[in-house]
Amino acid sequence: MSGPLLPGTVALVGAGPGDPGLLTLRAAELLQQADVVLVDRLVDPDSLRHVRAEAEVVDVGKTSWTGTAPRQEEINAQLVEHAKAGRRVVRLKGGDPFVFGRGSEEAEALVEAGIAFQVVPGVTSAIAAAAYAGIPVTARGYTQDVCVVTGHLDPDDPGSRVRWQSLAQGPGTLVILMGHDRLRLLMDGLVRHGRSADTPAACVEQGTTSAQRVVVSTVGALAADVAEAGLRAPVATIVGDVVTLREKLRWFD
Ligand code: SAH
Repeated sequence: MSGPLLPGTVALVGAGPGDPGLLTLRAAELLQQADVVLVDRLVDPDSLRHVRAEAEVVDVGKTSWTGTAPRQEEINAQLVEHAKAGRRVVRLKGGDPFVFGRGSEEAEALVEAGIAFQVVPGVTSAIAAAAYAGIPVTARGYTQDVCVVTGHLDPDDPGSRVRWQSLAQGPGTLVILMGHDRLRLLMDGLVRHGRSADTPAACVEQGTTSAQRVVVSTVGALAADVAEAGLRAPVATIVGDVVTLREKLRWFD
């Protein structure tokens, strides 16, 4: 068991995907010890009930005067500053801190500044949003592999390092995060690279929360169906035959 949150140190903590019950015991314990908590936009406000009344909560998801998120370097600098001031710092991040969401950059900044840190893994939306939609990301007889990718760049973007071609050709489950705004481009890319347009696909909006909504479709029709249903971010997209299991395993919504 890892120890207490010492003054002058930082804990990078996963808050889970939304359902407050999916916050880990360790996360709750460290939130109780924190002097300052830096939170993301995607973190459920309910998880902050563990924070002591005298602790400071900083919303780094947006700044009040511009309405825009501070740059990553500013968040890194804030973490370092609070720790150097001798505070016990929790950086609470949506889902798992090391599944996208730039947790590794924050950890690197702490290493460079010589600040001790610990990491508390969280339940990632990549798997949990699917599970609450009744979709197991792997299932015997369906697929034995699952790949979690970022959809924040179009497959044709020269900056994209996602291997869309091999992902399209394998039989595995694909979970796409941050892909809501480019859903049509992403699905077209998969078809162009060899996935059948009939492959089952689904989008889960605000998975694991009471506002969860699910659209089940196919790779060819998903973008239109999601636009028609009016789903908005955060959305997790699941592609693969496992999506058909929802019919039988749907339990939450
Ligand atoms: N570290 C996070 C992911 C951060 S990237 C994690 O492990 O879950 C942000 C993306 O995560 C969003 O664009 C969306 O694709 C996905 N996401 C986060 N919370 C979600 C939720 N409750 N339901 C569906 N997708 C979610």
